Amino acid sequence: MLKTFYIKTYGCAMNVADSNTVRNLLTQYSLQEVDDWKNADLIVLVTCSVRQQAEDKVAGWGIKAGEEVFKDKTVVVTGCMAQRYDRSTNMTVDEYEKILKRRFSWITHLVNIKKIEQLPKILKIDNNDLIENKNINYDRNNKYQGLFSTSNGCDNFCSYCIVPYARGKLVNFPKENILHDIKDFVSNGGKLVTLLGQNVNSWEENGESFVDLLKEIEQIKGEFWINFISSHPKDFSDELIELITTHDKFIKHCNIAVQSGSNKILELMNRQYTKDRFLNICKKIKEFNPDFRITTDVIIGFPTETEGDFSETLDLIKNCDIEMAYVGKFSPRKGSAAYKMIDNIDLDTKKERERRLKNLVNKIRETKHKGLVNRNIPVLLTGRQKGITYYNHEILLEKEYEAGTIQNIKIKKYSRSGLAG
Ligand code: SF4
Repeated sequence: MLKTFYIKTYGCAMNVADSNTVRNLLTQYSLQEVDDWKNADLIVLVTCSVRQQAEDKVAGWGIKAGEEVFKDKTVVVTGCMAQRYDRSTNMTVDEYEKILKRRFSWITHLVNIKKIEQLPKILKIDNNDLIENKNINYDRNNKYQGLFSTSNGCDNFCSYCIVPYARGKLVNFPKENILHDIKDFVSNGGKLVTLLGQNVNSWEENGESFVDLLKEIEQIKGEFWINFISSHPKDFSDELIELITTHDKFIKHCNIAVQSGSNKILELMNRQYTKDRFLNICKKIKEFNPDFRITTDVIIGFPTETEGDFSETLDLIKNCDIEMAYVGKFSPRKGSAAYKMIDNIDLDTKKERERRLKNLVNKIRETKHKGLVNRNIPVLLTGRQKGITYYNHEILLEKEYEAGTIQNIKIKKYSRSGLAG
């Protein structure tokens, strides 16, 4: 009989949210979460397959642990890896499960994350153990920060990305469910609402847009902040810019994924915007609020990226005052359109461009952090001596405060990586 479970999460914030769904489901059936997988009867691996490395990590984890230790355990693989084989190959999940089990005898089940609500039935967990039947999808163990999925999948088909194949077509979750979970979170003392979606700002329902959804969330009573990831420049409307820069409940930070500053590369990536569009978004944001913090994602070494293309990326980062970039070196993913392109940028060049880009954003960030010293900034306390600023920096504090409160804190020290107050 399964009594305890352990969840291992790979990949992005969407997977963290999926892990929350699994966690809530299992605790509703009286299973207890443990911190060490060795003490768990059930291990759930919430996988990612956006990069090959992530798939290798799953295989590597099991091999490193040694097959013997899994002898009496139930090991479930779910997440992108399970879905990808469902959609982008001719294999059904059942067929892939057989192959996977032959390769890794310690894996007992492969479950499509979209059908995760069937997990108790698949694992033959007794229905009598159901203690709660509440449709809540955020992590109730994290009192102050809540992740709320607004959709699953993506229809954009960026040429380098396998998410549309791994997670399938975009399905927006009903507004009613999203609002229900957020109200529950806020009424229990929740302070930071983070909306999640592969392309979060494309959410819509019966003619209502993402901005309409945000306005309704903003109306929920209580002292809390709102942010969202990941944003696509093509869906970043003027209305959205005005709302998040001028209304108090929205933290003054947004990650807007540019990927490249070269129009040629953006077209090859099928990103559906130009560098000028991205530049204009950043300009408008800064016009409304010069302190607003913008971060981005960049792919280095996309096929045919020349030194000139890369210089355009550096210029765009500089002109938009981007203070942090999640940089990924291009690696062809089987099933994506770019897999058929020739990966003609050698690894040394990719590494060298990555280094130059990181140096640039680090310099911009350090200057920005320095400019915050001696300023008073609202901070949400996530612990007694740590928190998140109104601009979404992590901050450490000298004095102790009550966790879960929002305090005005004077910034005393800075480094390239963080702030102290
Ligand atoms: S917007 Fe593009 S990069 Fe993002 S998930 Fe969709 S296809 Fe992938």
